[in-house]
Amino acid sequence: RSPVLQTNTQKLARYGGRHNVTVLPGDGIGPEMIHHVERILTAVQAPIDFELVNLTSKEDAAEDLEEAITAIKRNGVALKGNIETKFDNPVFVSRNMELRRQLNLYANVLHCATIPTIPSRHTGIDMVIIRENTEGEYSGNEHETCASPAPRVVESLKVITREKCEQITRFAFQFAKKHGRRKVTAVHKANIQKLGDGLFLKIATDIAKSEYPDIEYNAMIVDNASMQLVSRPQQFDVMLMPNLYGNIISNIACGLVGGPGLVSGMNIGDDYAVFETGTRNTGTSLAGKDLANPTAFIRASVDMLRFLGLQSHADIISDSLFRSLVDKRIHTPDIGGTHKSSELVASVIEFIDKELEHRNFQ
Ligand code: ATP
Repeated sequence: RSPVLQTNTQKLARYGGRHNVTVLPGDGIGPEMIHHVERILTAVQAPIDFELVNLTSKEDAAEDLEEAITAIKRNGVALKGNIETKFDNPVFVSRNMELRRQLNLYANVLHCATIPTIPSRHTGIDMVIIRENTEGEYSGNEHETCASPAPRVVESLKVITREKCEQITRFAFQFAKKHGRRKVTAVHKANIQKLGDGLFLKIATDIAKSEYPDIEYNAMIVDNASMQLVSRPQQFDVMLMPNLYGNIISNIACGLVGGPGLVSGMNIGDDYAVFETGTRNTGTSLAGKDLANPTAFIRASVDMLRFLGLQSHADIISDSLFRSLVDKRIHTPDIGGTHKSSELVASVIEFIDKELEHRNFQ
């Protein structure tokens, strides 16, 4: 199995040539966005069947989590909305994190590029953010020392392992090679976190030099990388980083190209893949209002189709979305427009119908 976004579909659940996909609508706008995606996949006649699992933030959902993991293991692929993580309960483990950890989805991949007609501060951004997705600050290892009478000291462990650093570094370079990208920038804070980030940086630098000498490589401290991103983002091609920096840098990058409703995010492991939105928002205050931008979810479904080898279906949806956003300027309020989510979806379906009709006549 190639670890760079192409799957060997023989291992996946297929019945009569159709793919079974686990769908986790999640909280907030997730369910309505998944409904839009389902209509689009039906319009394009994608050979996909949804297996729905309702995993939410409710506290007694241990069985639902198990069901979700079993379903993803069976189908190999999932499409997912974000599941809210309550932060008033210290023992509540993020369902999103637990899925990524238990399925070993070690790479998170976001492609951030400016889209014509969508307002952004910069033009010409085209970068891929590759983030380690299972360890680092997300290891969930926190405890209080001196807890009595009230907590005075908390220790929070950031776990960095050689195995995961090597895995994510090779993933980033192989991604760059496969997609014709020329440069990889490792982002770190090794000047302060000398051992943890030091290990990550050393491994990235060693692998870059010894295994991928044809790809340009540089390293940048995370605070400088944040500043460079907002002042001169065009310098970045592939960015490689540990978990928490990846979370923050991804949000900066999504903001640079137009906000949380536009970019999709892929969670990839050696055996399974989960497709969701890039910034992993729930958008709770927008739920049920027909206002959220469905672009990120639609692009997540396009990523999923490509992963499954359904290139032609993916291309038709992607072109129809582009024409709706750029040619017809159907923009939801988050990107300065006045259109409803459903109007963008209707336009995408209209372009899909036209394209399929055109192909039938040929
Ligand atoms: P909310 O503010 O919506 O109750 P929240 O505080 O958890 O939820 P997030 O879900 O993290 O916020 O979202 C951050 C911001 O991005 C919010 O202002 C949210 O409305 C907006 N947002 C998230 N997803 C979308 C989307 N698909 N389209 C438009 N705006 C979005």
